[in-house]
This record gives sequence, structure tokens and C-alpha cells, in this order.
Amino acid sequence: MRKKIVAGNWKMNLSLEEAQSLHSEINDALETSEFNCEVYHFVPSIYLSTLLESDQKVNVGSQNGYPAKNGAFTGEVSMSQLSGIGTKAVLIGHSERRQLFNESDILLKEKVDAALEEDLKVFFCCGETLEERESGQYKQTVIKQLKNSLFHLPSKEFAKIVIAYEPIWAIGTGKTASPEQANEMHKSIREAIEHAYTQEIAQNTSILYGGSCKPSNATELLNQSDIDGGLIGGASLKSEDFLKIIATYN
Ligand code: 13P
Repeated sequence: MRKKIVAGNWKMNLSLEEAQSLHSEINDALETSEFNCEVYHFVPSIYLSTLLESDQKVNVGSQNGYPAKNGAFTGEVSMSQLSGIGTKAVLIGHSERRQLFNESDILLKEKVDAALEEDLKVFFCCGETLEERESGQYKQTVIKQLKNSLFHLPSKEFAKIVIAYEPIWAIGTGKTASPEQANEMHKSIREAIEHAYTQEIAQNTSILYGGSCKPSNATELLNQSDIDGGLIGGASLKSEDFLKIIATYN
């Protein structure tokens, strides 16, 4: 059985106080309710140590990390520093990092290797632009992202990866992929994994959907046959909305 996962990507939002209260609201709610998925908060790195302090239902992850262990990389935080303070997971390859910070497939591959070396759980993001979707090139684009940055991994390492499919045209736009569009891509991703590895590995890989996922569409999206959870942006910033999405799997 694949793990169901609901993860919030806070991006560059929330003051420290807001972050602490949102994190504890979700933790407290999960203390007292049944939930059948793993829950993550991907938080701005400056809040990691504070939020990692207490024993929690919500796993705390970083939105980024640099591959070199240390050195002259002003402003960066290494995977090894992240793991050193107890961080559990890291997002790699978010489209905002690819587009706004020009992160290449090669750099992302190095990040994946460094994160795995530090035992961080990798949430690898992939997705196509609107142009690529409209030109019919969307599957090729996404599979190429996986091939270039993930498929070099030996099976044992690949088996630790979570994939998040996030069509760029659906991020923060209010436009979601239809459940059928999302599931079609998730199936193609799973086929590509089977081709590169084995059917067993493909069947065990959790593939999350992200892009304008909110309480009103979560049930339909997250219950598709090949969708194993969500990577939630905007709707993860309100505890009520995020908890409703988590409750999809109750
Ligand atoms: P939204 O849910 O705000 O569209 O963001 C999705 C996302 O980018 C999560 O990583």
C-alpha cells in the first residue's frame, strides 16, 4: 500500500508567530483526531529550528537545500546543516525554484544526491508550463525532468523518493488540473518509474498532486486511483482549510 501524504508548502509566507500558531493548531488537531496520512509542513528555513523543537504529528521539512556540505556559498543552507538540526524532509525542484532561481536539472540531481546522503526524505517536484500543456508536450516534459534528476538513482535510493506533480499553470492561479488530467499524468509518471525500475517500486511510490488544491476540490482530486496525496500551497496557510484537506483520507 502506498503512503498517503498531505504536505503544506508555506513558501515565503507567515511571521514567526503566525508560523508557530499554525503549526501548533495543526499538531493539536491531529493529536485528538483520526487521520490516515503522513502530514508535513515545508517551512521557511529560518523557522526550522523553532518548529522542530517539540515532538510532533506534523513532520517539518525545508523548502530548499544546497548540495555542498559547507563552504563559500553565501546565503545558502546545506542538506547536511538541515539534517544536523533534525529536519526530516526537503522539497527539491519546485517550479518557483526552477523558474525564478534558474535551477537546472543538473543542480537538482546534485541536490537529490546530497539530500539522500543526509537521510532527508526527498519530495521531488515536477510539472509543465501552460505552453507545454497546450502543445501536447506535457508528458515528455515531466518525464524528462524525472529522467534528468532522479532516474540515475539505484533502486534502493529511488524507493525513498516522493514525487509531487505540480502543473505550473495551476499553481496559485485558482485553475486546477481536472482530476482526470492530474490522474493521467500520475499514471504516466508511474509507468515511467516502472520502465526505469520495477513494477513494485512504481506501485510503492507516492505521487502527490499540487496546484490550487483546496477543500472544495480535494476530495475528488486526492481520491483518484494514482494520486496519493497533495502538496498544498495557499490552502495550507489556513488551519481550517488544511485540516479539511487532511480529512480527505479519514
Ligand atoms: P497553490 O496550492 O497555492 O496553488 O500552490 C501549490 C504549490 O506550489 C505547492 O508547492
